[in-house]
Amino acid sequence: MEQSSLELFGLIGYPVKHSLSPVMHNAAFKKFNISGKYGLYEKKPEELESFFKSLDKSDIYGLNVTVPYKEKVLKFVELEKEDAYLKIIQSVNTIVRMNCKWIGFNTDIPGFEISLKENFNPANKKTAMLGAGGVARSVAYVLAKSGAEEICIFDIDKRKSNNIVNMVKELFPNMKISAAASIEALNIKGKDLLINATPIGLKKEDPCLIKKEMLHESLFVYDLIYNPMETKLLSLAKGVGSKVSNGLGMLLYQGALSFVIFTGTDVPINEIVDEMRIGLKEGIKKICMKK
Ligand code: NAP
Repeated sequence: MEQSSLELFGLIGYPVKHSLSPVMHNAAFKKFNISGKYGLYEKKPEELESFFKSLDKSDIYGLNVTVPYKEKVLKFVELEKEDAYLKIIQSVNTIVRMNCKWIGFNTDIPGFEISLKENFNPANKKTAMLGAGGVARSVAYVLAKSGAEEICIFDIDKRKSNNIVNMVKELFPNMKISAAASIEALNIKGKDLLINATPIGLKKEDPCLIKKEMLHESLFVYDLIYNPMETKLLSLAKGVGSKVSNGLGMLLYQGALSFVIFTGTDVPINEIVDEMRIGLKEGIKKICMKK
């Protein structure tokens, strides 16, 4: 990391106001006595280009990237050379200024993998996913790498689901993976794992994409959304007896791994995770008090 008197980090996306990333990262900066401040950079799509053009002159040294820019930022960064598979996955969530260049990394992949496997082992399991955007590319990669028996994807834009199918086939030619034409065609009744990788559920007024009769009690439902902590999908799934997880675990692990990339710290990752978990709990407490 290049040093400056004021080291700024943050999250770029649209919207980002719901994000708990600042409380996590700022807790870690404080605890480990590393100079840095993490903020929110909410940029509309039409502001993205000028924001990136202004970055080199700014005091920003690292950013996390969220919805809907994980793929779109690729044109502004170079990919971490050791991550050869990132050239195929084409989704980054962490960018850092290094030697006058912006380098892109992906900590969603290990973050999601660690969090999912704390709850559910996808090996030999049939899986369905809603959404085929930036983070879905990382999720599909983890499922295929972990030996899932099948992956079926639905996105309102079928071209995006097909893109993921092609991406996974390139990396894992024998993987059984398909793009569904509708939510019904996902055949969730016949699946072991359902993942929501759409932003539907972030807003109070969002509908639930799934009907109760599509669910079953031996399904594991993982919603990548973490605020609200229980989306309509998760409460519906709990109602039929399914085991569920929200996206807090993933947020925590991807955040801790990004923090190491941002700062180059040699603090052990488990200590960063523990500190970020404390920050997260505080952040969640504040949200609950506001409601
Ligand atoms: P994204 O790139 O915008 O992708 C979302 C995808 O879902 C888009 O392809 C979108 O299509 C599609 N979609 C929207 N409405 C849909 C519907 N009704 N049915 C099916 N597909 C639909 O966003 P992302 O970066 O992948 O993030 C997705 C979600 O994951 C967000 O809620 C984000 O907060 C969450 N996330 C959580 C973590 C974590 O750490 N827990 C990390 C990353 C992301 P259109 O583009 O056509 O709308």
